[in-house]
Amino acid sequence: MNEQLTIFSELPEGFFDLEIANIRDVFPTPTLIHLSGHKSPALFVSILLHGNEYSGLKAVQALLKKYQDHLPRSIYIFIGNVEAAEVNSRVLPGQTDYNRCWPGTEMEPNAETRLMSEVVQVASRDRLFAAIDIHNNTGANPHYAGITSVTQDNQHLAAMFNHIGMVFKRPKGVSTTAFNEICPAAILECGKPGEETGIRHATELLDALLHMDHFPQKPVAPHDLQLVQSLATLNIPDDVSFDFNLSAQADLTFESGFEMKNFTEIKTTDIFAFTRIDNPLIITNQEGEDVTSEIMRVENGKVYLNKILMPAMITMDRYIIRQDCLCYLLVDYHG
Ligand SMILES: [Zn+2]
Repeated sequence: MNEQLTIFSELPEGFFDLEIANIRDVFPTPTLIHLSGHKSPALFVSILLHGNEYSGLKAVQALLKKYQDHLPRSIYIFIGNVEAAEVNSRVLPGQTDYNRCWPGTEMEPNAETRLMSEVVQVASRDRLFAAIDIHNNTGANPHYAGITSVTQDNQHLAAMFNHIGMVFKRPKGVSTTAFNEICPAAILECGKPGEETGIRHATELLDALLHMDHFPQKPVAPHDLQLVQSLATLNIPDDVSFDFNLSAQADLTFESGFEMKNFTEIKTTDIFAFTRIDNPLIITNQEGEDVTSEIMRVENGKVYLNKILMPAMITMDRYIIRQDCLCYLLVDYHG
C-alpha cells in the first residue's frame, strides 16, 4: 500500500481533464493540495476516501475551473484512496477503509492512520473554515449531509445541503469526527457516483462556503432541517434466499419498488416484507448487538416493524446486500 502523503501548492498539469480511471497519472499517491485564495480561514475538502465515489472529484474540478485565477477563499483538497479509485473500488481487498482511520479511530496505528493524522495536522496548522467530505452511495437516496456532532454550525452546514440530515456516532474514525475538534464538519452523500444532480449540488455547497464570511449566529429553524439518526442495521442472513418480487419463490420477498421506501416512515401496521421462514432478517444496533426481536416481528408470513422507523440507504444490489447490509433503520434525532 502506498500511504505516503504528497503535498502540492498548485494544481497539477492535467487536473481539469482528469478521469477517475487515470487518476494516478496525476495523483500517484494520496495528495493534499493547498491553494491560496482571497479569504481565510481555508475550506478543507476531502474526496475519494472511497475510491469508486468520484462525484467529489467532479465537484472539485467544476469549482476550481470556475475560479482558476481568483479563488474566493483558500482551500485544501485531500485526494484519498487513489489506488482503489483507479480500479473503481470502494477499498482494495486487504486495504484499510480510508474513512475509518482518521484521528479518533479505534484502529491500531497503521500506515493509513498515520497518513490521516498527517493530513489533519498539516491542514489545521492555521484555522479552518469548514471541512467537507464528499461521498456517494448505492441506492435511490436523497442527497443529505451526515454530521457526527450536533453543533449549531454543523446543523447549518447540513441544512445548507438539504432539509434532511443524519447524525451518526458510529463507525468511528470517519473524517468529520477528526475535524469536529477544529471546525464545522460534514459528510455529503451525493447519490450514486457520477450523477449530475449530486455533483452540481455538492459544487454549489462548496461554492457557497468559499464566499460565506461566517456561519449564521441564529439556530437553524426546525423546518429547515430534519435530523435523523441510525438506530439499527438490517441484514439478510447468508442462508436466507430473497427477491425483490413478491411472486418469487424465496424465503424473503420484498416489493419490486422497495427502494422507494428510502426515508419514508414505516408504521407498525405496514407490511415490511413477506417470508416463509421464522428468522428472515438480522437487526443489530449501533453497538453491534442483536436487537432483531425488539425491532421486528413475523406474523402469518408477514414482517412488521415494532416501532415507527425510516429505512435509509436501501440497496437492491445483491452483492452489496451480502457484503454490507440491506439498509439502515432511522429515527428522528432528539438531543
Ligand atoms: Zn463513502
